[in-house]
Amino acid sequence: MLDTDFFRRWMTAAAASVEREANDLTELDSAIGDADHGSNLQRGFTAVTEVLEKDAPATPGAVLTLAGRQLISTVGGASGPLYGTLLRRTGKALGDDDEVTQTQFAQAFAAGVAAVCWGAPPSRGR
Ligand SMILES: [Mg+2]
Repeated sequence: MLDTDFFRRWMTAAAASVEREANDLTELDSAIGDADHGSNLQRGFTAVTEVLEKDAPATPGAVLTLAGRQLISTVGGASGPLYGTLLRRTGKALGDDDEVTQTQFAQAFAAGVAAVCWGAPPSRGR
């Protein structure tokens, strides 16, 4: 079973990865964009880490929903809404359970990916 702490650690690990790779992300973005991808994601995931510590959400779904909302409100450009929607919709699909199975997580993540791809859960038939 995957508990709330598992999802909190996932977001913390993601924040650490973004921190580590921020310069490379920005360098890649400078070749084709406006050279802010690394710093945008860094700002977003720093805010995610802070809000998860401050609000201490009680369920896996609440962790991802809060993290997603935070990314949407702090990361500019397209990446905030894209990563934020992925996490928010995955979190909503997990519901209010204190722990989830790997299968539940996989299904919820698929719903999050579908929301990013088509803006709607797969059950809407798109
Ligand atoms: Mg950019």
